[in-house]
Amino acid sequence: MKPRVQAIFERLLAFETVSSESNMALIEYVRDVLLGKGIESLIVKDESGKKANLFASTGPRELPGVLLSGHTDVVPAVGQAWTVPAFQATFRDGRVYGRGSCDMKGFIALAIDAMLDAADHSLNRPLQLALSHDEEIGCVGVRRLLDVLHLAPVRPFLCVIGEPTNMQFVLGHKGKGSYHTYCRGLEAHSSLAPRSVNAIHVACDFIAALRRSQQQLQEQGAQDADYDVPYSTVHVGQIVGGKALNIVPNLCTLDFEVRNLPADDLDQFLEHLREQAEVIVREAKKLSSVADIEIQTLNVYPGLDTHPSVEAVRFLKDFAAPGTGTAKVSFGTEGGLFKQRLDVPVVVCGPGSIEQAHKPDEFIEVSQMEAGERFLAQVLGSLKL
Ligand SMILES: [Zn+2]
Repeated sequence: MKPRVQAIFERLLAFETVSSESNMALIEYVRDVLLGKGIESLIVKDESGKKANLFASTGPRELPGVLLSGHTDVVPAVGQAWTVPAFQATFRDGRVYGRGSCDMKGFIALAIDAMLDAADHSLNRPLQLALSHDEEIGCVGVRRLLDVLHLAPVRPFLCVIGEPTNMQFVLGHKGKGSYHTYCRGLEAHSSLAPRSVNAIHVACDFIAALRRSQQQLQEQGAQDADYDVPYSTVHVGQIVGGKALNIVPNLCTLDFEVRNLPADDLDQFLEHLREQAEVIVREAKKLSSVADIEIQTLNVYPGLDTHPSVEAVRFLKDFAAPGTGTAKVSFGTEGGLFKQRLDVPVVVCGPGSIEQAHKPDEFIEVSQMEAGERFLAQVLGSLKL
């Protein structure tokens, strides 16, 4: 690993940028490092002012460039059995340990180093860097940055999201919608149960509808054999309801998610689901007008489906190590949002393995960092005049 990459990487790992905390110290550090080479950063803060995205560009501004993108936040380390300090780089046995080492401060260190390199050369197309916050809690932060980049007169011709893929080219992942549902009924003494509306029973009917929709997606929805589960999935993850056995409950809440293949329309799915909820409610209202099912959207991010034959993918392929394949993955990224808002081809490619992400003693192999170094050096080489 280049000494400069290692130095940046160590600094990045020391910032405790758990999603719930501020990432400003890290963002200001990156801004200052880039400014050292004369690269200006655009800082886009969230409404609290405690978190920010960063965008920087070096090279000719009027031309579309290559955008390297990563998220600065990490998942918490508390409650996990770490044997090394979580927020400090530990170099051991050809690995770098630390929270965020593979997901994804290793890539960010490489991307910053590539920006610094780029500043020393005349480029025929710009190299750009986008850093986001709050990715781990549903790709929340990057949306503000995309609102700004969306309005820019020139957009990148390619976006590389450096999530850990062992430097393979990932061209697709499912989208995801998560939802909170209130099922309402009428409270009563349990001896009078048939005359009131049991909110748990309403929830059960709704869950049955969800399971029917899963069946439908499986049998009639889009299919993509590149995924372990080749169709869109529906799942209820949490349910809460009832106070005591002798009370007919008036409220039951449940959380469900849909992970959709990009070819299955999430809005359409939800519309269909609401129609089924209406049928359940209409029946329940015969006993009480308070019966209701209310579905609240918690978070939605789109899937990614980049065609392997687009020019941008072929451009990148020239720089990949021999044997680099294309794949689709089960985890989500900000890639779908970049594609949706900027209409730019997106490739997810970064060092390290998702297997190590979010775990205690998270690490990245130094050899992966070096593979990333070689890759970005080649990409940058192609942008030089
Ligand atoms: Zn990540």
